[in-house]
Amino acid sequence: MMSQFAEMPSGTRPMAAWPTSSTTIAGVVGFPVGHSLSPLLHNAAYGIMGLDWSYLAFEVPPGSLEGAVAGAAMLGVRGLSVTMPHKDAAARLAGRRSARVRRLGAANTLVFEAGAVFAENSDGDGLLDDLREGARFDPAGRRCGVIGAGGAGRAAVLALAEAGAEQIIIVNRTVTPAWRSAALAPKVARVGRPAELSGMDLVVQATPVAMAGRDASGGDSPGAAPGGSGSEFVAGVDPSKFGSGQLVVDLVYDPPLTPFLLEARRQGATVRNGLGMLVHQAAHQIRLWTGAEPPLSVMWSVVGGDTSRAG
Ligand code: NAP
Repeated sequence: MMSQFAEMPSGTRPMAAWPTSSTTIAGVVGFPVGHSLSPLLHNAAYGIMGLDWSYLAFEVPPGSLEGAVAGAAMLGVRGLSVTMPHKDAAARLAGRRSARVRRLGAANTLVFEAGAVFAENSDGDGLLDDLREGARFDPAGRRCGVIGAGGAGRAAVLALAEAGAEQIIIVNRTVTPAWRSAALAPKVARVGRPAELSGMDLVVQATPVAMAGRDASGGDSPGAAPGGSGSEFVAGVDPSKFGSGQLVVDLVYDPPLTPFLLEARRQGATVRNGLGMLVHQAAHQIRLWTGAEPPLSVMWSVVGGDTSRAG
C-alpha cells in the first residue's frame, strides 16, 4: 500500500490525513493548561524527529487526575507531562516510581507501560542542564538559595544537592513545606531568612508569583515590604539586595522578565527565566518516551529563544 505521506515534501505532514489511527498520543495534564508551551515544544520536536507522534493539552480539574490517567491508559496514550496542580497526585497514583519521585513526592512525567504507570521527575535535571549549558553555572561547591518549597522548589533543592552545592538556603512563605524541602538534603540544606539570599552565588525563584494568568487572589502580599509597593518581593526576599556576581533564576517564563528578575538585573545580577528549564525538562521526557535524542535547538526556537539573556 502506498504511504499516505509519499507525496509530501520531506519534513512536512499532510494535515488532512494526519493524525491517523497509528499516531502515538502524548500530552500534558494541568489546570489551567491553556497557557502551556509544552504542545508547541513537543510537536515541533516530534516533527523534526520524523516520529508519528502527536502531543495534546488536557485540562484536568483538581481532584480528577486519577480518572484522567485511567482514561489515558485505556486509550493507549504513551506518556503524560504533569503540571500544576497535579504533580503530587501523579506521584501518589503511579504504580512504579523512580527513586527521585519517591524522595520528592512529586512527578512531572508519566510513562504508560504494559499494565503499569511509571512516574519520573525531570524538573531537577532540566534546571541543572539549563544552569550548566545556558548560564555556564556549575552548582558544585557553590552557595545556593531556593525560594518556594512546592514541587519545583523541592526538585531544585534535590538537584542542586546532588550536583554538589556547598550550601542551600530555603525561604518559603510558610515554614512546614520549607522544612520538608530541607529534609531532602539535610547535609547542605536548611531553612533560612530572606536576607540571607543576598549572599548566595545562585538564587532560584520557584514560586508562581508574577506568573501570567495567575489568579490575583493568590495574593503576593505576604512577601511585600513594609511601607513599599513590594511588587518585586517574593516571600519576603528583596531583589534590590542582589548584585553582580550573583545568578538569579526565576522559574516563571511568562512574563519573560518578572518584576523580581528586572530588579535583580537592575542591581547587576545575571538573570535567567524558566524557559531553558522548560525546554530541557521536556527534552528529558522525550528521551524517556521515545528513546531518541530531541532537537534542542528547534525546541529553543519555537518557544522564542533565550529571552532572559536577550532581554
Ligand atoms: P506549587 O507546588 O504550587 O508550589 C508553590 C510554591 O510557591 C509554594 O512554596 C508556595 O508557598 C509558594 N507561593 C505560592 N504563592 C505565593 C505567594 N503569593 N507568595 C509567596 N510564595 C507563594 O508550584 P510548583 O509546581 O512548585 O511551581 C512553582 C512555579 O515554578 C510555577 O510558576 C511553575 O510554573 C514554575 N515551574 C516552572 C518550570 C519550568 O520548566 N520553567 C517547571 C516547574 C515549575 P506555600 O508553601 O507557603 O504555599
